[in-house]
Amino acid sequence: MTACLPAVASAKAGRPLNLNITAGKPSLLEIDAVFDTIRAGMPLPVKRCSVLAFIFASFGITVAIAVDDWQVIKINGHDYLSVDNISKFYGLPAEVVPSGANIQTETADHPLEFVGGSREAIIKGARSWLCFPVIEQDGKFLVARTDVAKTIEPLVRPHRVPNVGKVQTVVLDPGHGGHDKGQVSRYGFEKDFALDVARKLRAILQAKGLRVIMTREGDYFVPLEVRAQIANAARDSIFVSIHFNATNDDPNATGFEIFSFTPRGAPSTSDGTVAASSLKMQPGSSMDAQSLALSACIYHSLLGHIPEFDRGIKRARFAVLRLTKVPAVLIEGGFLTERGESKLIANKDWRAKLAGAISVGIENYRALPLKKQPPMIVADYRRQTKSAPVDPAVQQGTVKEVDSSLIELVGRSAFLSPQQSSTPAQRSSLESAPIVP
Ligand SMILES: [Zn+2]
Repeated sequence: MTACLPAVASAKAGRPLNLNITAGKPSLLEIDAVFDTIRAGMPLPVKRCSVLAFIFASFGITVAIAVDDWQVIKINGHDYLSVDNISKFYGLPAEVVPSGANIQTETADHPLEFVGGSREAIIKGARSWLCFPVIEQDGKFLVARTDVAKTIEPLVRPHRVPNVGKVQTVVLDPGHGGHDKGQVSRYGFEKDFALDVARKLRAILQAKGLRVIMTREGDYFVPLEVRAQIANAARDSIFVSIHFNATNDDPNATGFEIFSFTPRGAPSTSDGTVAASSLKMQPGSSMDAQSLALSACIYHSLLGHIPEFDRGIKRARFAVLRLTKVPAVLIEGGFLTERGESKLIANKDWRAKLAGAISVGIENYRALPLKKQPPMIVADYRRQTKSAPVDPAVQQGTVKEVDSSLIELVGRSAFLSPQQSSTPAQRSSLESAPIVP
């Protein structure tokens, strides 16, 4: 855990006080030694206004810890922060619901909702998966410091992530291709649906003046490492991989999910334990906060525009996320194994809608450093589409709500609200492995 370095920033002071590894690849022993040293010198609970700043020039590490307002609680050598502390710091109401409670994005009353004993959370109206479970100690609910730094901070204040929003080129990565068909539904192959969404998205982004590179232009196979190399070679690029989901476990599983690279030292959403290999620095490690910010921007737009089930913002170590040195996400745009959703995915108008929603998310990511405020969230999009439906939708990069003709076309079951569609069976599949990238 010590290898996963949290950043703690002060919302009140308004100054970025991050604890970042900015460069270099020191050994884990070196990092552990460094942080043992820091921790040994840090009184607990931390006194107000004490700021420790360290510059480790030899490692190329710049470390600045702001401990203003944070009361770090140590349990078995790991650092935690209470939900109350987090809520006060951000000025956001928080709630912890009991383990096993069925929390719904739609009905979340608080900007920060946690589930006791679970990694599941609803942050600003979208399901988000913590690296570590929330624990209870002496009547207090505690969140791992890693999650405050690596999950909550980039999701709540993505505009504060260093170097966020720098986008000259969007690298679109339609999954699979050629002999690798991806998943299959009765209507077609994942590789073809993904390519079509990428082509539609390219047109929208180019119309907005962005440079777009596709990792494949047609139906041929491109190795995963080549896809990452394409993104790494482009200047100020972001990488957006487009896939569709499938599962053998639950024919009713539906919904969107989005992945970005798992922070170093943490387990991926589908893993219960920390593998030794997760402690290694990877190319994707340096951008994990920016990638999560990109996930948030795209995912809120997806859910805000298209009423699919919210499976959440997740972490994974997929090759394309691990090997990209630029902000990178992988979108799972619904299930080819579910009847209603596979029908939707087969519909070109729906795919255009999907492309439109992704483009709005990318735009909002790009706007973060200009606006210097959090991006639109699910509730904002839903309010917007209700009050001013935009037409024609896709050309302008925004999308309409589901209209009755589309419902008729693809069947009503596909548009069940999350509450209606979240059966216990489906819930159990929420935590299941993501299935197939
Ligand atoms: Zn795939």
